[in-house]
Amino acid sequence: MDTINSYQCPCCGAPLVFLGEELHCDSCDNSFSVDAINQMNEGMERACRESKYDWGNYEPRSYEAEGGVNLANYSCQSCGAEITGDDTLGATVCPYCGQSTVVKSQFEGTLRPDYLIPFCVDKKAAMEAFLEATKKAPFLPDSFRERTKIEEMAGVYVPFWMFDCDCDAFLTFNAQRITTWSDSNYRYTKTDFYKLLRQGGVGFANIPVDGSKKADDTYMEAVEPFDYHAAVEFDSAYLSGYLADKYDVSHEESIARANERVKNSTIRAFDHTTAGYVSVFPDRASVSFSNGKVRYALLPVWMLNMKYEGQMYQYAINGQSGKVVGKYPVDKKKKWKYFWKVTAISAVVSAAAAALLLVL
Ligand SMILES: [Zn+2]
Ligand SMILES: [Zn+2]
Repeated sequence: MDTINSYQCPCCGAPLVFLGEELHCDSCDNSFSVDAINQMNEGMERACRESKYDWGNYEPRSYEAEGGVNLANYSCQSCGAEITGDDTLGATVCPYCGQSTVVKSQFEGTLRPDYLIPFCVDKKAAMEAFLEATKKAPFLPDSFRERTKIEEMAGVYVPFWMFDCDCDAFLTFNAQRITTWSDSNYRYTKTDFYKLLRQGGVGFANIPVDGSKKADDTYMEAVEPFDYHAAVEFDSAYLSGYLADKYDVSHEESIARANERVKNSTIRAFDHTTAGYVSVFPDRASVSFSNGKVRYALLPVWMLNMKYEGQMYQYAINGQSGKVVGKYPVDKKKKWKYFWKVTAISAVVSAAAAALLLVL
């Protein structure tokens, strides 16, 4: 027995009737080709499928049999940070809380990274980048910059999970085009509504997700991007003079964040294909992965903790690019002075405008 397909109007949901060569909606008076309706139904069905994320397994590696540098563990009595470094490292302020000095403890030979990006901004250059950034901070107290001490800065290899995958995506967008014209009596505005269907593949390499609970996620994502071409196979010699944090967020725990980043980046990648409309809103997105791979990497970040008027201010500086991230204290006096100045100017302006009105 033949089945009869019943089609629904994509605009208003009313049943469509076959008329001439097209499907017609009696309710809203729109017409569609059968092909267009079939394509749309298929695209919608695919875009509504649940996204499938399949990451490979990660096997932890150990530090055993590393030549070159003797490693030691350091721990912070104040915040509990556990960090690895070379065992000749002198007293170092805890890079995470800045409250106390890290103390050498028993070395545990676990959690060896797969690769790292070496530091290429040295301590002096990082400090210069920081001082340069403070110049742009609004209402910064003068004494803040003067107090900056280079010893408070620590080079930390921050643990990140790196995700690679190939991604197949089905997406729908709602879009509009507006046309206006006029005759001698009326101005007309016509709005066309579109359902855009997009399908394609996107390859992702090195999507980083912060692997440390102590490092603030928003800071760590703000300090990106890193150039992964500079990444090298891990060798403990790179740790000489630096601290390396161990991950305390497992790769399983990072997966949700990776999925979110992949999905958002995919939607953004397809956004570029929707030019020519006045407004475009993402509607549905279904992505599925293949060749998912997880690796453990260390990325270079200079950490600076500064205590100022009883409050701790933390800064992260990209050890590869010198990008500075952090919040700055505000000098309230400077701010109010600025506020009164602006108010005074606008008062003068409105007084001038009032005078102008009187003249008129
Ligand atoms: Zn309709
Ligand atoms: Zn600490």
